[in-house]
Amino acid sequence: MTRVTLLAGGVGGAKMAEGFDALDDVELSVIGNIADDAAFHGLWVSPDIDTLTYSLAGRIDRAQGWGVADEAHRALDVLDELGNDTWMTLGDRDFGLHIYRTNALRQGQSRSEIAAHVAQVFGVKSQIILPTDDVVQTRVRVADGWLSFQEYFVREQCKPEVLELDFDGIQSARPTKAALTAISTADLIVVAPSNPLVSIDPILNIPGIRAALTATSAPKIAVSPLIDGKVVKGPADRMMTALGLRADALGVARHYGDLIDTMVIDNADAALVDPILALGMGAVCQHTLMKTIDDKTALASAILAECQ
Ligand code: GDP
Repeated sequence: MTRVTLLAGGVGGAKMAEGFDALDDVELSVIGNIADDAAFHGLWVSPDIDTLTYSLAGRIDRAQGWGVADEAHRALDVLDELGNDTWMTLGDRDFGLHIYRTNALRQGQSRSEIAAHVAQVFGVKSQIILPTDDVVQTRVRVADGWLSFQEYFVREQCKPEVLELDFDGIQSARPTKAALTAISTADLIVVAPSNPLVSIDPILNIPGIRAALTATSAPKIAVSPLIDGKVVKGPADRMMTALGLRADALGVARHYGDLIDTMVIDNADAALVDPILALGMGAVCQHTLMKTIDDKTALASAILAECQ
């Protein structure tokens, strides 16, 4: 049994999580991103954690990669009719989860207890772990000023150029014991092909997390979310360019730097192997585009094989 701890954002992270979750000889813990969380209609919504949970529970809308399959939007229609902003698409089944979470928070449960309970009830085999129980909020500075992450990502559809990122509350956030334990007891640490700047950095920058990763002797492997300098989905490439980074697998490798032992990059990026090796880390080419469950398990198996 190999204990794998995966650092993951939403859609890209969940695909990688599904790959490891499906392997019999793996005990998977996923540390998810909570910095995209936000309140809508008085309810606490945790998009990346929910994408992980819905994916691992087999409830995800596969066509979208997020949200629940077989969903309706009657609650949102009523909110719209009553004059609320409804740019954040929340389905009826999804609303049920947000109502549960918000109520449990009011009753004094921690965010990680709630996430673990939901995962267990939904039949998720792997552990879904929050990096902190404190509130950390990604904020995005654009020409017009600061936006919350969901305002930038969903309402503005990632169109404005990103001038600066900030993780409000991160300095005083405390890591959860579960996250530190998942890191210190792992046989293998994997950074999922998630947005390095707004999915992985808000996990890494929680005080104590980076130090725990540095302290463990387990191999640390990151999968590039950029294939041939392009994203599969989302704004990571434009964000990296706007913030002065190279928008390709080499840029991702440089960004993670010493934290990572090996980069897994796509076969299409074979030309970047040597420049990545020159950074003092390993570089391996694989088929990294995950469309089917076979793609996901094949990539997870290849990553496991790398460190055995
Ligand atoms: P978000 O929080 O929902 O945006 O999701 P993540 O941060 O986890 O994932 C977004 C990143 O995942 C994007 O940069 C995509 O390019 C990358 N991504 C999505 N699917 C795949 C895939 O199948 N393979 C690889 N290599 N990257 C992917």
